[in-house]
Amino acid sequence: MRVGLSVDPPLATIPGVLAEEGVDTYQTVLRDPGRFGNFGVPDPADRAALIEGLRGRTTWGVAHGSLLVNLASPEGRIRNSSVFSLLSDLKVAAEVGIAGVCFHVGYVKGHASADAALTLATRKLGEVIEKMPAGPRLFIENSCEGGELGQTVAEVGRLVRDVGAPPERLGLLIDTCHLHAAGFDLSGNDAGQRLADAFAEEGMLERVSAFHFNDCQLPCGAHRDRHAVPGAGTIGMGLISVATHPAFVALPGVIELSVEDGRQGLAFLREHGATERGPR
Ligand SMILES: [Zn+2]
Repeated sequence: MRVGLSVDPPLATIPGVLAEEGVDTYQTVLRDPGRFGNFGVPDPADRAALIEGLRGRTTWGVAHGSLLVNLASPEGRIRNSSVFSLLSDLKVAAEVGIAGVCFHVGYVKGHASADAALTLATRKLGEVIEKMPAGPRLFIENSCEGGELGQTVAEVGRLVRDVGAPPERLGLLIDTCHLHAAGFDLSGNDAGQRLADAFAEEGMLERVSAFHFNDCQLPCGAHRDRHAVPGAGTIGMGLISVATHPAFVALPGVIELSVEDGRQGLAFLREHGATERGPR
């Protein structure tokens, strides 16, 4: 797997960090992730610095959407702000050459059933797809905390099927920590094969487009989102199995920790031949 790092804005720092750490994939944010409205959106000079700094290099980047996104919110204002926020991120991503925007679907809270929440989320996701600019893709990210939608392979599969958007618009980004915390045991040397089989069974293997390549601090099924340094959590060698599986080996992934912790994770992955050091 092409595993890289999360780098906070300003965007201008990204090219230097990638060169320094010998990676060619990254995640960043294109807004203040904790506020709706256009706060912390990179200014034109910062956007230009990213484009200029990565010119001539083969990199892959993803932007993490706002943490407030809830496409299933019972409040129309929150649903619409979620759509607006994702569309705004997609526009900036298109401008700076970021490959996609990932997001968590939302919460079941306020609905009589998960089915009702998923139906509403599907409709709002359709609105985003309809209005999104050409270029970057939208990535549904699997989640794990109580009440969150999209925790299982079947549930993210259902969303993709129901939205009905083509792969060049809508893909899946799999967070290994979240999937493990949601109850899919990713520890063990057969984790890569079991994961590929689970997505293939759902008809979704080709939609898996990227990874958040985190280890997990808590046991499988804990339903808490606590990332660990790859190799230092409850998934451990299971990450090597996923990263080297033929279905996933060519995909991009990012470790969602500080650059310092991410560097330790990269060392673990490189030690086991699970990711390569890119050109400096
Ligand atoms: Zn997480």
